[in-house]
Amino acid sequence: MDLDLVFLGTAASMPTAQRGPAALLVRRGSERLLFDCGEGTQRQLQRSAIGLPDLQEIFLTHFHADHFLGLPGMLKTFALRGRDETPLTVYGPRGLRELFKRLHPFLGRLPYPLTAVELEAGERLERGDYTIEGFAVEHGTEALGYVIAEPDRPGRFDVAAADALGVPDGPARGQLQAGEEVTVGSGRTVTPAEVLGEPRPGRKLVLTGDTAPSPLVVQAAHGADLLVHEASFLADEAQRARETMHSTAAEAAEVARLARVRLLALTHVSPRYFGPELGDQRPVTSPRRRRCRRSSATPVSSRRSSRLRRTTR
Ligand SMILES: [Zn+2]
Ligand SMILES: [Zn+2]
Repeated sequence: MDLDLVFLGTAASMPTAQRGPAALLVRRGSERLLFDCGEGTQRQLQRSAIGLPDLQEIFLTHFHADHFLGLPGMLKTFALRGRDETPLTVYGPRGLRELFKRLHPFLGRLPYPLTAVELEAGERLERGDYTIEGFAVEHGTEALGYVIAEPDRPGRFDVAAADALGVPDGPARGQLQAGEEVTVGSGRTVTPAEVLGEPRPGRKLVLTGDTAPSPLVVQAAHGADLLVHEASFLADEAQRARETMHSTAAEAAEVARLARVRLLALTHVSPRYFGPELGDQRPVTSPRRRRCRRSSATPVSSRRSSRLRRTTR
């Protein structure tokens, strides 16, 4: 199953000539999930190779203007294009319904079904072969990060081992793949461990939205394949990051190191930075920690519409 991310907006607080404010599209198979919808997101999509699909699910991290101002325009565009049946669900933290009440005079009546779903931290949406779960972050307002996780899958079936053990073709092999023991003709019991390889871990993506560096994020992101963490500032603005409950690039890198994530993408970058200077920042560590072996986490500054692709496993 293909899984990738499209960074539609990577600017903090306001758009710049090069960057849009927060918006990230997750593509999983044929599904398109939009996380945050900063001003101009629909145009970012139109300018990309993706175009503007009739999105069915949009997830907001919080209700600061740089994360949702693109939504009213996009909802109106869907209506003007004649969308009348395809439902749209918008998820977000507490306060989402109040936001829609306030937007109502601008939106008017929309011809397609629109539902606003408020999520609590820890609430999980089951999707069959993956889940989406909101988690609390620290931004001084109602705000959620999101974990997209696939369950671990059983290891590959070793046909040669099954042949050697005398497991006949047919239901017995299915039972072993489902984790059940079977007894073969010789009277021997064959266990799943004898014919299945190592379990294949599911993929895990974690999106923080805006947050100060937080143990809550470390916990939610533990072992993630990819952590998309905000990095509004560089180390020389650490004080400002504290006051506004944002993170520096170095703090985001430290969160990634503690959470043992495989890849870190920095986004929500102050308009004063161009991007590459974020990669020069070192994780904030204590002297004792600094002596420990280097982190495998790699800071990546994400540019507009840059893509991270991992192949299907
Ligand atoms: Zn923001
Ligand atoms: Zn914010």
